Amino acid sequence: MEEENNVPVEEICADCKGTGIVKEKDGTNHTCWKCLSDGKLEQHTSNIKDYGIRI
Ligand SMILES: [Zn+2]
Repeated sequence: MEEENNVPVEEICADCKGTGIVKEKDGTNHTCWKCLSDGKLEQHTSNIKDYGIRI
């Protein structure tokens, strides 16, 4: 069951198309929260990881 040839299964974000920036319909841009929470964006917003969640 290996039908994935050269398809990079990187799960491109549907919100920002992998750019990390979401363009709203009104023309404004903002950081993709989805990627942010996923840790795909390595900006100065690493606070999410510092939530202090310890299981
Ligand atoms: Zn995204």
